Parts: sequence; structure tokens; C-alpha cells
Amino acid sequence: MNPIIHYIKQTLQGYYPDSEAASLAKLLLVQVFGFSVLELYGGKDRSFSEKERKQLDDILIRLQKYEPVQYIIGTEGFYGLSFEVDEHVLIPRPETEELVDWILKDNKEPGCRVLDIGTGSGCIPVALAKFLPEAAVTSWDISAEALRVAGRNCRRNEVNVKLEQRDVLQVVPMNEQYDIIVSNPPYITEKEKMTMEPNVLDWEPSLALFVPNEKPLLFYSRIAELGASILCPGGKLYFEINREYGAETVEMLARLGYHGIELRKDLSGNDRMIKAIR
Ligand code: GLN
Repeated sequence: MNPIIHYIKQTLQGYYPDSEAASLAKLLLVQVFGFSVLELYGGKDRSFSEKERKQLDDILIRLQKYEPVQYIIGTEGFYGLSFEVDEHVLIPRPETEELVDWILKDNKEPGCRVLDIGTGSGCIPVALAKFLPEAAVTSWDISAEALRVAGRNCRRNEVNVKLEQRDVLQVVPMNEQYDIIVSNPPYITEKEKMTMEPNVLDWEPSLALFVPNEKPLLFYSRIAELGASILCPGGKLYFEINREYGAETVEMLARLGYHGIELRKDLSGNDRMIKAIR
């Protein structure tokens, strides 16, 4: 085995399972140190300078504190695009790619007016602006830091998204009209914290993750109520949801008069996304 991979695995022993340490090693060597496949698998020699060794050791200390490797590398892929990420935004997840995929397959007509609520890194609005023909995409987030990251991700992926700093829990009735509202809002209840890994709990922004135990649907009900006025008739609402609250979310949407409600599972078989029509 490449001696540097061996060194990384050894340094991470006890912190990560062996297989995970091995993938982290390969990821770092390729993404941070620019190793080619040949260099990685030992067919070709690649020396490691003093400076690189120091940089690697700094990274390994961060990994020993369970900082997500995406924050260390500074980027994450999402729907075939690359996104800058830092501690102000949630790392884009594959489940969210599935939601984006649903929207893209469902909405082929050009010129959709789309509102994304809780933009974070901007993964959802950027992917939609990129792949929905001639869409006009607006995105809200409460966090100025997240909006700065999202703005950089718009430029990085050469799309136009109207980014606005707004707290969806506070917005007043407005005249805007949208064909699609999408959101992956905070949905983890405080009591679920116990089940979470330290790389999420200690590093990803709490603001993006948590809701009070007694209000698991806080954002969903608010957005659905708002949708009743700012979605055009026949307009569609798409949510990523907490897998524990599929039935409750469906019921809430039905109570508010939405129809065509569809609950879908993610690739792991968990209730994960919902569509509803105004
Ligand atoms: N929309 C972003 C994402 O899906 C951020 C979500 C959030 O911060 N809750 O990754």
C-alpha cells in the first residue's frame, strides 16, 4: 500500500472504521494533494514535501475532531455540480438530490417561477436554475453567511438566482406568485440529537438542522400556509421531510386544502419527500 495512505489510516485508527479511513485517505490525496490514480495505487512515485506533510498533519488533526471532510476540502458535489461549503451551511445530501430530480422530471415546461426556502449552500436553487429551462429562481435564507456562500455557488455554477435574506417564520403576506415552492427546512427534533454522529452534531449549523420537540412540523406548516397565498392555482409544493413524520406532514397538507399529495421514499427506503398541489 502507498506509505502515505498507510500513515493516514494509522493516524485515524480508533477515530473512524478502517474502510472509512481508507476512503478519506484517497479523497484527501486526490482532492487536496492532486494525486493521480497511478500515484495513489503505487505504480508511480510521488514524493511528499515537508510543507505537504505539515498540511496533511493539520488536516488529520481536524479529522480527529470529526470535522466533516467536505468542510476541510471546501467543496461537495451535488447533482453533477460542485458547491463550496463551510460551517455556515449544511453539506448537500444525496436525499436532496433525489428531491431535485423529482422536480426536474415533473416540470419540463419553460419559464417556471420557483421559490426555494432555506437555501443554505444554494444546492437546490442552483441545480434548478441550471437544469429547469428558463426558470426564474428566488431563494430565501435567514442567514447572511449562508447567503454569501449561496451567492458564490451561483457564480461558480454560472446561474442567476435571486437571493433574499428572509425569515420564513416572520414574512408578511405578499403579492409574489410562484409555480413551485421547494424547501428542505430544519426538521430534526432536539430529542433526535442522541442518535446523531459527532461530525454532524458538532460541526454543521444548528440553525439549519433543528426544530423544537413539540413543533416537528414548524417550518412545513408555515410554508404550506404561505403557499396557499403565493402559489398560483395548480402550483406545486415540494418538501424534503423527516422520515418519522411522513403521515403527519401528509395530513397537515390535506387539512390546508392541498391535493395530489404524494409521499416518496429515498434510496434507503425512508419516507423522505412530499409533493402537494395547491
Ligand atoms: N437547502 C439546503 C440543502 O438542502 C439547506 C437546507 C438546510 O439548511 N436546512 O442542503
